[in-house]
Amino acid sequence: MKKTNLLALGAAFAVSMAATVFGSDAQAAEEKFVTIGTGGQTGVYYVVGQSICKLVNRDSGEHGIKCTAPSTGGSIDNINSIRSGARNMGVAQSDWQFNAYEGKSKFEDQGAYPELRAVFSVHPEPFTVVARADSGITKFEDLKGKRVNIGNPGSGQRGTMEVLMDKMGWTMEDFALASELKAAEQSAALCDNKVDAIIYTVGHPSGSIQEATTSCDSVVVPVTGEVIDGLVEANPFYAKATIPGGMYKGSDEDVETFGVLATFVSSTDTDPETVYAVVSAVFENFDRFKKLHPAFANLKPEDMIKNGLSAPLHDGAAKYFKEKNMM
Ligand code: GLU
Repeated sequence: MKKTNLLALGAAFAVSMAATVFGSDAQAAEEKFVTIGTGGQTGVYYVVGQSICKLVNRDSGEHGIKCTAPSTGGSIDNINSIRSGARNMGVAQSDWQFNAYEGKSKFEDQGAYPELRAVFSVHPEPFTVVARADSGITKFEDLKGKRVNIGNPGSGQRGTMEVLMDKMGWTMEDFALASELKAAEQSAALCDNKVDAIIYTVGHPSGSIQEATTSCDSVVVPVTGEVIDGLVEANPFYAKATIPGGMYKGSDEDVETFGVLATFVSSTDTDPETVYAVVSAVFENFDRFKKLHPAFANLKPEDMIKNGLSAPLHDGAAKYFKEKNMM
């Protein structure tokens, strides 16, 4: 009788201990879902999103956040899906962050998006043109009259290409073919001789550009001249950029172009605690993050909290950067 009682008491004690332990855990770990918009699966945005989620999900037990980063159409898609509430965060080119916040260019019809928030910037993204060696294309101007993949609507490169076309006075009719393939499909199209050239605003080295330059004879083409000089001068989010010689087969010399920065954005609809947790997952594990893609090799936290950011910093990000005396 006594024994039974003791056992019962022991069991009750064990149960209440478990309730205490798991009870407090369950409280801290109230589930929250964060979804990050990326880009095509062969791009660098996909790696950015997947890497961030990997680091966030390691501490799900503490903050309760479950992070996913599916493949998407790219920058403009990502900003639009944050605006519609379909996603919480996303990667976007610095030019499209600026234009979305201000309601300019492609975002003119929708109007300004004052709730857009910058979180941090990531790697540089040169505007990259790759042409078949047999196409005779040696510079951007040569794309006129050729078969060009101008990119899927919703991608950053499509938007930036449209800005360039506008400045060049070109329309779709100026190409023998203007295809709208996604980034993940375009290298194969180039090497299958379906198009003469492809464009991609992407971090280097890029697996996709490697595919385009090793599966067939092709060259990285310079994007320079008065139009580019004018764009860089007039817009803080553009800068001259160089794709290093020797990085890709067929392009031994440096190739001059212009580019933007990849940035990580969110909106005031995402609560500061969530953004704080995401930002700390990245910066508390910064060395690990940097190793997840060679395009991250030169990232410096002091640049990432200011360069390429035109929307105001998200409160959750600012809280972390201030706590760490980064700003
Ligand atoms: N810059 C491209 C875009 O905005 C995506 C590049 C990538 O996926 O790495 O759509």
